[in-house]
Amino acid sequence: MGPFAMGIDVGRTNVRAGLVDRRGQVVQFLEEAVPPVGQQNPLAETLVRTCREVLHRGGVKLADLVTVGCATVGHVDPDSGVIVASPLQGWTGIDLRTPLSQSFQRTVTVEGEGNAAALAAYFFGPSRDRSPLLSMVVGSGIDCGFIEDGRLLRGAKNSALEAGHMRLFHPGRTCVCGRTGCFEAHAGGYALASLLAEYRAAGHELPARPEEVAELAQASHETCISIWEEQGVLLGLGVAILLDILNPAMVVLSGGILRSWNLFKKSLLKTARDKAMPRNAEVAIVCAPDPERACLLGAVVAALRAEKRYDFFLDAQAETG
Ligand SMILES: [Zn+2]
Repeated sequence: MGPFAMGIDVGRTNVRAGLVDRRGQVVQFLEEAVPPVGQQNPLAETLVRTCREVLHRGGVKLADLVTVGCATVGHVDPDSGVIVASPLQGWTGIDLRTPLSQSFQRTVTVEGEGNAAALAAYFFGPSRDRSPLLSMVVGSGIDCGFIEDGRLLRGAKNSALEAGHMRLFHPGRTCVCGRTGCFEAHAGGYALASLLAEYRAAGHELPARPEEVAELAQASHETCISIWEEQGVLLGLGVAILLDILNPAMVVLSGGILRSWNLFKKSLLKTARDKAMPRNAEVAIVCAPDPERACLLGAVVAALRAEKRYDFFLDAQAETG
């Protein structure tokens, strides 16, 4: 067995770690809750502990670990592996790379979630070799990445495509960034949870969690169906703007909300195509094949790319810059 690469995805609520083999398969996986973040950097400790447990469960020795790649929410400096800005309380300044590299004695690459998911889509499909490619990760918040000619769009401070905080609505809901009307404050996972809380406060007998609403929608509960359809409309509005700004050849969606893709796919596609300029609207908008692990897989691609280990995957493709 082996060699393997370790992929990590740091979300707002959960940390995921997985061992990826040379076929690009996640062969061992573990998910842990994000601890309350403070000065002692318990987040990094949780990452190290989770990765060690994944190695243990997989029966994999450290010698068989080629590299470690980490994707995270927030603005990360890819050179230092430090979260340099985050709207989340206490996250700014967290060094993700040093504890991981010290613990595993490997070079550790840290990349933003949107970029990581874009790399996964570009490398593994469904948009393999098709660029320009727009990736949108819809979890609690929304993160995006864009690849053209094989290269990630980064911007002057590695914070291009902060699309989750496009101010789309006025006055709009209050966002974690402190502004109002942001795309993710209306269309992200926590926005959906807030909407459900409002329904419940108004006397509707609805569950509190989006996944439970999805179950009811699958069972033909009309209010739940309409909630997910509206979710698609809200996401479609943001996608339409990005289609007009970036003119991608394909849009690949991933993240936890995509578990319910069949419930909002139709309204998202219709909204995106109705609202974007006609020339930009005719584009494939698809769900990633493994939407909840796209960032983890992309983190591995980023790490292997940084080390120029393009031979790791048995079905290797050309270098992406
Ligand atoms: Zn915001």
